[in-house]
Amino acid sequence: MARPHALVIPYPAQGHVIPILELAQCLVTQGVKVTFINTEVNHSLVTSNCLDKDGSGDLMQMVSLPDGIESSEDRSDIRKLNLSMLQTMPRKLEELIEKINKEDSSKVSCVIADDSMAWAIQVAKKMGISSAAFWPASVATLASILSFQKLIDEGIINKKGIPLSSEMIRLSETMPPIKPQNLAWACLEDTATIEVFFQVAKQAEEASRLTEWFICNSCPELEAAAFSLYPQLLPIGPLLARNRLADQAGHFWQEDSTCLAWLDQQPPCSVIYVAFGSFTIFNQTQFEELALGLELSNRPFLWVVRPGMTKETTTDYPDGYMERIGSRGRIVSWAPQQKVLSHPSVACFISHCGWNSILEGVTNGVPFLCLPYFGDQFHNETYICDIWKTGMGLEKDEAGIITRGEIKSKVETLLSDKTFRVKALYIKEKVTSSVSKGGCSHKNLNNFIEWIQQNGT
Ligand code: UDP
Repeated sequence: MARPHALVIPYPAQGHVIPILELAQCLVTQGVKVTFINTEVNHSLVTSNCLDKDGSGDLMQMVSLPDGIESSEDRSDIRKLNLSMLQTMPRKLEELIEKINKEDSSKVSCVIADDSMAWAIQVAKKMGISSAAFWPASVATLASILSFQKLIDEGIINKKGIPLSSEMIRLSETMPPIKPQNLAWACLEDTATIEVFFQVAKQAEEASRLTEWFICNSCPELEAAAFSLYPQLLPIGPLLARNRLADQAGHFWQEDSTCLAWLDQQPPCSVIYVAFGSFTIFNQTQFEELALGLELSNRPFLWVVRPGMTKETTTDYPDGYMERIGSRGRIVSWAPQQKVLSHPSVACFISHCGWNSILEGVTNGVPFLCLPYFGDQFHNETYICDIWKTGMGLEKDEAGIITRGEIKSKVETLLSDKTFRVKALYIKEKVTSSVSKGGCSHKNLNNFIEWIQQNGT
């Protein structure tokens, strides 16, 4: 009997690759064959940093398709990247499916694509293959993106996505209102990029109507009101909560696991973990204030300083910084973040509020200090500070800088007021119940896997 065979296609960004790979790993453990398709550039990053300890063996194969951009060229221009992928990848995916169907004993039975890669779902439809769309971020973000045309029609934003008033935006009676400046596209600088963003959103909406399943890495325990706006969207997350201590895969940078031994040496609930995901870039002033704020906090800290995290070519710490912090501070270029956040020494998380980082903090009952940078992170911060009340925002001064004093004082408040930890543990319990037997995400994921299994045989 042939095995079910799923093609899994992430959007080419770190925060998209990790969660859909977690889903792929769940499928593999249930006997589904997976071909995981990265763009060529990401494929080489992911495979060179692969720990290959996930036990997936030969049921998972990693392959790549070209995104149409020269390998040496900059991919940070999302307009260029999206247009190029749209032009190049559908044909290449068709060819890959034809090749697999000719050569592999298990023909492709299902395509699971990031909802921002709607073209892959169109290819599946054209070739008569079942499909599922996966949304890796919050449902509140999805709701705002999919509402863009309605917001234009109602005169709340103009065609360029710019809000026409400073009034809070309500997508539904029950959802938390969105500050106009917190709309996911507000950070995009030029009209042409916003146009492409809306075009991708429109295609994503159409594609999600073509698929048999529309699943997402969230759960109603985190954002019930947003889910009630999209009853067709099924929660299966947080996927990582299924196996919190597994080795993570899909990383673009090599993890420095030595920080785990350093964490072992710190007192329980003492360490400030500081990490800003894969995109955030600081100017030198903000970088230095952050460094000095951590120094002033007088607590142990573990700080991820990714290569390229400052605009300068080399990362300049304040004079004498390393000597002063000594072994109290540990700086790594990429951490095994899920393991760090589940370590008993970690007291709080200074985060950019990327959705994966939030889920990882929430799943471990860790309170947050929020320093959002980009896209959906500003609205995600609202959930932490105003809805779940598991953290606080770091406020900028008049010059637009989060000062060392602000960092020191917020760390003190967050760690001395026990209600943040209590609320974080409460949310952790609720989320854990969703992914445990009998919970909503657990049931949906099992039904989804069962459907894939039946579809392939
Ligand atoms: N991450 C990690 N080590 C680090 C920093 C980040 O493993 O040092 C992972 C983190 O666990 C998360 C992902 O990178 O799964 C970042 O995704 P997120 O949505 O938080 O932010 P983005 O990178 O999309 O801004």
